[in-house]
Amino acid sequence: MRQRELAVLMNGLSKLTRTQRQMVVAELTAGEHKVASIEVIEGGASDHLCCPHCAAERVIKYGSVDGLQRYKCQGCRKSFNALTGTPLARLRMKGKWLEQAAVLRDGLSLTKAMERLNVSRPTAFRWRHRFLALPKTVQAQALTGIVEGDETFFLRSSKGQRQGLGRTPRKRGGKAEKRGTSKEQVPVLVARDRSGNTADFILDSDDADHIVDALKPILATDAIFCSDGSKAMAAAARKMKVAHRPVNLSAGIRVIGGVYHVQNVNAYDSRLKDWLRRFKGVATRYLDSYLGWHRAIDRMTGGSLNPASLLAMAVRV
Ligand SMILES: [Zn+2]
Repeated sequence: MRQRELAVLMNGLSKLTRTQRQMVVAELTAGEHKVASIEVIEGGASDHLCCPHCAAERVIKYGSVDGLQRYKCQGCRKSFNALTGTPLARLRMKGKWLEQAAVLRDGLSLTKAMERLNVSRPTAFRWRHRFLALPKTVQAQALTGIVEGDETFFLRSSKGQRQGLGRTPRKRGGKAEKRGTSKEQVPVLVARDRSGNTADFILDSDDADHIVDALKPILATDAIFCSDGSKAMAAAARKMKVAHRPVNLSAGIRVIGGVYHVQNVNAYDSRLKDWLRRFKGVATRYLDSYLGWHRAIDRMTGGSLNPASLLAMAVRV
């Protein structure tokens, strides 16, 4: 805008009613949020650009669409931007994405999310699942030293699926009809070393073989594995040929030799459950995604657990 036009606009501001002023502020704030989102999305992207279609590195700037820089590949001639090929491609209202990252961090129910973001229910739902799809792969690749393992269970839920329930729908977040392990519970193996590296796995079945399949590829051969000493865990440790320190919690034993315990992994499990509970029922088919977000959120502490870092993490995966 030219200087003279700006002066006219600024002059006009004094004539606004209070409501009109609030509308202008809202518009400006939305614009600022969009710029902030785009900065995060594109941050560092120009350093190592390559075409998401053919991986060629010869690309040129090619205008911009909805605030995002567009590029054209000199190899395949296709155009792309920083979000092409990610679950967030072509999602609208970027100005609200930072807030959406915060909504997931805070574990808001869909209704609360609609209120905070001021969007419709279908939009809130679509955003939740597009965002959830992002960091599934943030998973510890190696666990070393003292490694605590624990199995925790989640109620099987086919929320959002209308067909094939095979039983009367349960009220959201209800209780399993049978206690403990059953077809109604989804077993999740959580393993964590003392550096805070965490991996978790949804198991088809909570037996030794499934635990071994999940854990063996990432567990160091000289790791010392601590568990609650369940039969399955003990058998899994034997099969993996790692040292095992079972901690018999039911007998009141919490720590062996001052260092062998499962308190870190148990604390992780309760943070995970607390966070998941806030969503008021999580469909089992999305559990994997929620586990991924929690792993990512749990790694961030204090100041780094802000919406910008979360959005950055989500789009960089
Ligand atoms: Zn290309």
